Amino acid sequence: MINIAILGSTGSIGRRALDVLRDLGPDHARVRALVANRSAERLADQVREFRPDFVGLVSEESATDWADQWPGGGAPDVSFGPACLEAAAELDSVDVVVVATVGSIGLRATLAAIARGRSIALANKEVLVCAGDIVMAEARRHGSRIMPIDSEHSAIFQCLWGNDPRAVRRLILTASGGPFRGATLEKIRGATREDALAHPTWSMGDKITIDSATMMNKGLELIEAHHLFDIPHERIDIVVHPESILHSMVEFLDGSVLAQLSTTDMYLPILNALTWPERIPNPVPPLDFAAIRSLTFEPPDPQRFPCLGLAHRSIAEGGTMPAVLNAANEVAVAGFLAGEIGLLDIPDLIGRAMKAHSLVAEPSLEEIFAADAWARREVEVLCSSRT
Ligand code: MG
Repeated sequence: MINIAILGSTGSIGRRALDVLRDLGPDHARVRALVANRSAERLADQVREFRPDFVGLVSEESATDWADQWPGGGAPDVSFGPACLEAAAELDSVDVVVVATVGSIGLRATLAAIARGRSIALANKEVLVCAGDIVMAEARRHGSRIMPIDSEHSAIFQCLWGNDPRAVRRLILTASGGPFRGATLEKIRGATREDALAHPTWSMGDKITIDSATMMNKGLELIEAHHLFDIPHERIDIVVHPESILHSMVEFLDGSVLAQLSTTDMYLPILNALTWPERIPNPVPPLDFAAIRSLTFEPPDPQRFPCLGLAHRSIAEGGTMPAVLNAANEVAVAGFLAGEIGLLDIPDLIGRAMKAHSLVAEPSLEEIFAADAWARREVEVLCSSRT
């Protein structure tokens, strides 16, 4: 029996996690806490179904929306504001915290859960991008297990299982290539919000879909893999695999490569993170290799997708630089979604912020938050000067 808190329960990962928990049933998994950003209506439906002990809404402006969901009165108690993420992560009744928030907001709650020895099922890759050294050291100190929900990292975790980590030569992350895989630089430059949101294989939230279009998603995943598996970034390669069926690979010293393949559905990495080392039958249709016929691979193009190079550079420089990369990216993506800047302005603004940043080599958590806040202001100014 696992007792679960879901941070970000109304987003695409949070909703799929609840599908998994519904199928596992109340004898195997109990939902103890649900926290959403601001979708009061969706959260109210989840609360009616799963009856958690704790409910939170990060956005305080959602208070009237929440009250509207309970017209006859009797609305369950709700905590408002960003601190409700930490409150949910710290509940005594919880043993696994699903961190499915978006952006660096999930960091404090993840650390709060780790400090209490909870297991983390991590979908919020920005947590490791910003503060991977601190998060992994704290997890080791408190004996907290961090299970990846990201499909690529779930694949690598499964390929590494039972193998000697010293025998690993390199990790190979697969990337779908996003909607602009075959597009010219001019096409990418002129891309609209709708073009960029049309992902060919995965259905995800807006922020991560734009990150896929710029391939920053793979850059963030590179940093995430470096921390999760303690492998230098130079030994993590990226290969474009448009079918999104082979989710990543590990190459060993003898040249053997282990890969993990499965149907393109986040249900599977979520189930894996929550129930490992068990393998649980589930309703996701299995792969049909005769229908798939071929799997293809190609190298990524650093010219059309400069975010990959920026991610490598940020981790080579280390310290606060990955946090700056991440915060600059979050603000630039929001600027693109708001129609303020073009798609190629995203890597341009991130590069400018990185160049202007005064690096702190071994930052404390507060110095990471300060670098994050600095990069946000910097890119907001750069964004508004372009509109
Ligand atoms: Mg992924």
